[in-house]
Amino acid sequence: MTIQTENAKAAAWDLIGSLFWESGRTTAKPSDEEIGLFLHGITAGARCTVVGASTKDLVEALLALGAEVTVVDFSERMCEDLRAALPDGSCRILRHDITQRAPEELRGTQQFVLNDRLVNRFSEVEARKGLEGMLDLLTDGGQVRASIKLGLYPMDERMIANGTERGTLESFYDAGTKVIDFAAAGDVLSDSLLPHGGIDSELLLRWYRGRGREQRFDHEDIAALLTTVDVEGRGLHLATATEFGQAPKTKMYTATAVRSGQDA
Ligand code: SAM
Repeated sequence: MTIQTENAKAAAWDLIGSLFWESGRTTAKPSDEEIGLFLHGITAGARCTVVGASTKDLVEALLALGAEVTVVDFSERMCEDLRAALPDGSCRILRHDITQRAPEELRGTQQFVLNDRLVNRFSEVEARKGLEGMLDLLTDGGQVRASIKLGLYPMDERMIANGTERGTLESFYDAGTKVIDFAAAGDVLSDSLLPHGGIDSELLLRWYRGRGREQRFDHEDIAALLTTVDVEGRGLHLATATEFGQAPKTKMYTATAVRSGQDA
C-alpha cells in the first residue's frame, strides 16, 4: 500500500463539500456545452476517472452514458457529499490525492482521466505531479482531458492591484512564476474578495486561505509542462487544445499517454 502524506489543501475543500454545486458560482462549473466536449467519443463501458468530486454534473453525464466511472478526490467531505448525492453503487468514489502515485489497483487501467479547472488549483510543483498522477491512471493511448483557465482570475487582478497600491505585492505574488499565495495575502485577500454564488464570505475567506499557493498559466506554460511529465518511462503527448465554451480564456487540453520518445 502507498502511504500518502496529508495534503494540507484538502482541509480547505473539506469546508466546502456539496456547497460547491449547491451554492457556488455557476461559472466555476462546466456548462452543458463544455460537458459535451469532455464526453466527445466516450462510449458505454469506457473506464473513466474524474478527478474532483465537486464536478458532479460531469460525473452524472458520464454515468448517463453508461461509462464505468471512478471519482478521486483528496477531500473526505467532498467524497462523502458526492456519495450522498448519487445513487448507491453508481460509481466508485475514492479519497486520493492526484499529486501522488495512483492507487495500485487503478494504475494503467483508465481510458480517460477528466478534470475541470483542477490544474488551476495547483502550485508549480503540484501541477507536474498532478499531471503525472493522471498519467499514472491511464492505459497506453488513454487520454487526459483537463480544462484549464489561462491567465489571471478577476479576483487575482484585484489582489495584484491592491497589493501594488499597498506595497505588499511581493509577499503573496511572484510575477516570475505567476504563483499567488492566498494564505500569505492577509487583508489584501479579504479586501479583494469577490462573491462565489451564495457561499458565505467568512467561509469563502477560509477556503481561499486554505487553498494556499496556486499557479496561473498561459498556453506556452502548459505545453512546456506537459513535456516534463514522466512516470516510469511514459509521458503525455499534447493532442489538442480546444477553446472552452463560453468561459473566457479557458481551454480543454487533451493529452495522450505514450511511451517516452514516442509520438501519439
Ligand atoms: N471547476 C471545478 C468543478 O466544477 O468542480 C472545481 C475545481 S477542482 C475540480 C475542485 C475539486 O478538486 C474539489 O472537489 C477538490 O477537493 C478536488 N481537488 C483539488 N486538489 C486535489 C488533489 N490534489 N487531489 C484530488 N482532488 C483534488
